[in-house]
Amino acid sequence: MTRKILITGGAGFIGSHLARRLLSEGEEVTVMDNLFTGTKVNIYDLLDNPRFTFMLHDVTHPFWGQFDEIYNLACPASPIHYQRNPVETIKTSFMGMMNVLDLALKTKARVFHTSTSEIYGDPEVHPQPESYWGNVNTLGTRSCYDEGKRAAETLCADYLREYNVDVRMVRIFNTYGPSMHPQDGRVISNFVMQALHDKDITLYGDGSQTRSFQYVDDLIEAGMRLMRLDRAKLDRFFAGRGMTVPVVNVGNPDEYTIRQLADETLRQLPASKSQMVFQPLPKDDPRRRKPDITLAAELLGWSPKIPLREGLAQTIAYFRGLQ
Ligand code: NAD
Ligand code: UDP
Repeated sequence: MTRKILITGGAGFIGSHLARRLLSEGEEVTVMDNLFTGTKVNIYDLLDNPRFTFMLHDVTHPFWGQFDEIYNLACPASPIHYQRNPVETIKTSFMGMMNVLDLALKTKARVFHTSTSEIYGDPEVHPQPESYWGNVNTLGTRSCYDEGKRAAETLCADYLREYNVDVRMVRIFNTYGPSMHPQDGRVISNFVMQALHDKDITLYGDGSQTRSFQYVDDLIEAGMRLMRLDRAKLDRFFAGRGMTVPVVNVGNPDEYTIRQLADETLRQLPASKSQMVFQPLPKDDPRRRKPDITLAAELLGWSPKIPLREGLAQTIAYFRGLQ
């Protein structure tokens, strides 16, 4: 039977991939977005689909609709964009989450929330398992995002415990791929755009900080599997591990320094005349990040399939096509 699905933030990078995947499975999809970092370009090809609806709306304002599932993605995700209007960022994370959970409570919708590896802050435990509470500065310039996402997780946990809302959370680690905005500001889109246009490759700090990069299709697959799980099975799985809230890391554990990423980008674009330049490291930039995905493997029978080399090639092809 066709499910009615709402995706908040669905005109963004991940949301547009999710919308496409859900439509391909026969679902009816409504995308709600205020186009802060997203763009209708990402969903133009979907607008004529009779099972697709676009709603221009800010998730911080209450809304109504009868949906079977709500995927909550609304929130700028790139540091330069979430720091552009920090009050709006934390408001979007918290109030947007609350509006989603209130609607789910009234309509018995299942909720999927996109949390983030940023809730671990600059981690002192490596790799990061779900049981790690994190190391986050409450007062820094990244805090609007990190603390907003932490508060959103708390809301999910409390709506589950107090009102039994069926909520499932993923903590997403650096995800990339086609449909990222060329001016998104995150490292992969920056490096690829810079290399394609013979501009300096901007390494922040000395480039020794690490990230673990996940191709978007791997994330979507894990999310689909999580949302299709029977609630009783999900509850049993987490209860068996002493956890009351279903939250799971989703990322690719292959860890790279930012310098290695720059090298790989230039290796794949040998005609580029770009040079590497070193710029100051942004405040509170995590030194390393790598997911422990044991839980996702056990719960979902999932592991990422697309290595950086291959995903980067797809992403380069996408950005090249925009020129
Ligand atoms: P994105 O910026 O491309 O997409 C976010 C979307 O949310 C955009 O379309 C934007 O316009 C919309 N939005 C922002 N504020 C809104 C508001 N108040 N009301 C309605 N819509 C609003 O980013 P993305 O990479 O696609 O991220 C999607 C979600 O996944 C975000 O919640 C992000 O925090 C989370 N996430 C992403 C990553 C990643 O590496 N891409 C990592 C961790 C978590
Ligand atoms: N970074 C960089 N050059 C850039 C953009 C980012 O060296 O042009 C670094 C950034 O300082 C961080 C890493 O790349 O250490 C990942 O940054 P991004 O903004 O993609 O995501 P984050 O994981 O910090 O949210």
